[in-house]
Amino acid sequence: MNTETLINFAYIVSSILFIFGLKMLGRQATARRGNMLSSLGMLLAVVVTLIDRQVVTFQWIITGLAVGGVIGFACARLIKMTSMPEMVALLNGFGGLASLLVGWAEYAKPGEPLSTFTSTVIVLAVFIGGMTFTGSLYAFGKLSGKLSGKPVLFGGQQIVNGMLVLGLAVAGALFVINSGVGAMGPSAFYALLAVAFVLGITMVMPIGGGDMPVVISMLNSLSGLAACAAGFVILNNVLIVAGCLVGTSGVILTIIMCKAMNRSIANVLFSGFGSDATAAAGNSEGQIQGELKPISAEDSFAVLEAARQVVIVPGYGMAVSQAQHIVRELAEMLEENGAEVRFAIHPVAGRMPGHMNVLLAEASVPYEQLVEMDSVNPQMPMMDVAIVIGANDVVNPAAARDKSSPIYGMPIINAHEARTVICLKRGKGAGFSGIENQLFLLPNTRMLYGDAKASLQAVAGEFKAMAEA
Ligand code: NAP
Repeated sequence: MNTETLINFAYIVSSILFIFGLKMLGRQATARRGNMLSSLGMLLAVVVTLIDRQVVTFQWIITGLAVGGVIGFACARLIKMTSMPEMVALLNGFGGLASLLVGWAEYAKPGEPLSTFTSTVIVLAVFIGGMTFTGSLYAFGKLSGKLSGKPVLFGGQQIVNGMLVLGLAVAGALFVINSGVGAMGPSAFYALLAVAFVLGITMVMPIGGGDMPVVISMLNSLSGLAACAAGFVILNNVLIVAGCLVGTSGVILTIIMCKAMNRSIANVLFSGFGSDATAAAGNSEGQIQGELKPISAEDSFAVLEAARQVVIVPGYGMAVSQAQHIVRELAEMLEENGAEVRFAIHPVAGRMPGHMNVLLAEASVPYEQLVEMDSVNPQMPMMDVAIVIGANDVVNPAAARDKSSPIYGMPIINAHEARTVICLKRGKGAGFSGIENQLFLLPNTRMLYGDAKASLQAVAGEFKAMAEA
C-alpha cells in the first residue's frame, strides 16, 4: 500500500468516526462517547495529514499548535457558560477565515494558471469564508454587547444586499473566466474578497441580538460549507466530508430553531425582529389586563410546602443569574418534603439550543426529571405549582391566543394552566421579543421579585429553617 492510499484509507476511517460520533451526540446517554469518537477521528486525520509528503514546514505547524492551544485553553477556562454563543460565533468566524486563507494560498501559489474547477472552488471558499468571518465578528459584537443588539434597518437595505450578491457573482465569474491571471484575475479576486467581507456585515445587520443564536447556527453551517470548498481546493477528502457534516448539521439546527419559534428562516433574516416596531405590534393596547401581585419568599415557601406536584420552568433569567445549582437544591428539598418535581424544558428557552439542558446538567439535575414541552403540557392542569424561573416568551399565552403578537404560533409551555404560578424575575423587564406577558397578570400568578438566584436562596432558606426546627 503506497502512502497516498494509506492516507485516503485513514481519511475514510476518520469520516466514519465523525459520522458515528455525530449520531451518538443525539442522545444524552451516548453523547460523551460520541464526542470521544469524533475526537479520535480528528486525531487520526491530523496525524495522517502530518505524514503527507506535501507538508512543507513543521516549524509553523508546531508554532500554530502552541499559540492556538494556549488561546483555546485560556478561552475554555475563562469563558462563562452565558457567553458561549458569542464564543461559538468567534470560532465560526475563524473557521471561515481559515477556509478563505486556504483558498487564497492556493491562488497565490506560483505555477500554472488555475483550472476552471480549482478557480471555481477558490471563489466559493473565499466568498463563503469571508462572509462567515465578518458576519460572525458582527454577531459576536452584538451578542457581547459591544454593538447594539437592535436590528439596524435602513431604506433600500434589501436592494443594497441584492447589489452586493450581484457584485459577488460578477467578480467570481471574471476570476474563473480569467483563470485568476492576466490583468483581470487579481482585480476580480480582491473585489470578491472585499464584497464578501461587506456582505457578511450587511447580512447580519438587520437581525436583532435575540435572533443571533439562529444566525450563529446558520454561520456555523456556512463555515462548514467554506471548509468543504477549501477541501475541494486542496483535494483533501476528510476536509470535504467534515465540511459537509458541519454544513448540513448547521442547516438542520437552524431549521429546528426556526420551527420551535414558529418562524421561517426568511423572517429571522429579513424581518428586523426585535426592532421597536415589532415589539410595539405585540403590545397593542387593551390586550393586557389585570395587575401584578407580588409574593414574598416566606409566602412562596408556604405555597410550595403544601404542594405535591411541582413543575419548574427555567428560562433565560436562570442562565443570567446562574441559579441552576440552587434550583437543583430546592428541587431536592421539595422532593424530601413529598412533592414530585419535574423540569419543563422549552426547545428555545435561553439563548442557545439546549441552553437549559446544559445548565441543569452542569448542576447535576437528574436527566429523567427533564420533561419536554409536548410531554409536560398535558400534565399542566394537574400541577399544584409552576415555578417560572426567568422565563418569559416561552410561557407567554399570547403566543397561543393573540394573532397580532409577533410570537403568535410559537409553541409555549402552558405554565398558566397550573393551579398556582410563581414567577421569578427582577422587575417588569420584557422577554427577548420585547412584548408584555399576560401570564404575569393572571389571578393565579404571583411575582417573586429579585434576582432568581437570591430569590431561590431565600425560599430554600425557609425549607432549611423548617428542617432544622
Ligand atoms: P426571555 O423571553 O428572554 O425572558 C427572560 C426573562 O428573564 C426576562 O423577562 C427577565 O425579566 C428575566 N431575567 C433576566 N435576568 C434575570 C435574573 N437575573 N433573575 C431573574 N430573572 C431574570 O427568556 P425565555 O422565556 O427563556 O425565552 C427565550 C427567548 O429567546 C424566546 O423568545 C426565543 O425565541 C428566543 N431565542 C432563543 C434561542 C435559543 O436557541 N434558545 C435562539 C433565538 C432566540 P427581568 O428583566 O424583569 O428580570
